[in-house]
Amino acid sequence: MAPDPSTYSFSRVTTFEQCARRFRYRYLDGVQEGFQGVEGFMGTQVHSALEWMFQQRDGGNRPTLEQSVAYYCDEWDRRIADGSAPVRVVKTGTPMETYRRNGAEMLSRYYRERFLSDRLTTVANEHHFRVTVGERHKFQGFIDRLATDKDGLLHIIDYKTGSRVPKKFEGKEAQQLEAYAMAMFREGQAEEVELVLDFLKTGARLRRRVLRAQADEIEVRLSARIDTAEEATVFPPTPGVLCGWCGYNDLCESAMSRYSRAS
Ligand code: SF4
Repeated sequence: MAPDPSTYSFSRVTTFEQCARRFRYRYLDGVQEGFQGVEGFMGTQVHSALEWMFQQRDGGNRPTLEQSVAYYCDEWDRRIADGSAPVRVVKTGTPMETYRRNGAEMLSRYYRERFLSDRLTTVANEHHFRVTVGERHKFQGFIDRLATDKDGLLHIIDYKTGSRVPKKFEGKEAQQLEAYAMAMFREGQAEEVELVLDFLKTGARLRRRVLRAQADEIEVRLSARIDTAEEATVFPPTPGVLCGWCGYNDLCESAMSRYSRAS
């Protein structure tokens, strides 16, 4: 079944901008991706473990590093075993076990460098929002962690498990969090928010303060991007290096050939 055609997420917008054909397969035709790249799979398990760690801590039972890594490893094994989403290693020469270990190392670093010293109060993990944008679009998302500091300032925290770390708070990671800030203002939860990007591979952290007065401007930019996707009538493929990680590359006639399974 196709996803709700009237509701947009940030990844739906960026999928259209990266490859309109992939957007069509996923969001208009409702075709399931044939596989998930191991990098994305690893990121999902790390996010799941972080959510569990904060839930445990906030419930008065702070987990040890060993328990946290064990949770991550168990989730990894359980999801691989249930086979519901086939996982593919795209980069040849790197065994699956290397990715599993990389995720465990990220989690260990975060535990030592952030988790133990974290003094924020969790408002929600995986906070789901759904707001109206541009008067006619529904925009939804999941915020990895919402938390307040001792002054009551709301922090919107996003974990990144990829290798890319921008030098400044800019690019699509920043745009995503700005859109989430706009949503929090629309939900009426704050007058200002602190955006936090945690890059788990390196331990880097980027921040930006956003005020409610900026919400209209952010909404206009996001709404224009959604308009472009919504008004599209043709969905050309954009073959490139990302074809390797595209779960439609067995289906798409334009998949960059060295990444297509049929090649
Ligand atoms: S295989 Fe490449 S060109 Fe085809 S839909 Fe996927 S990303 Fe787009």
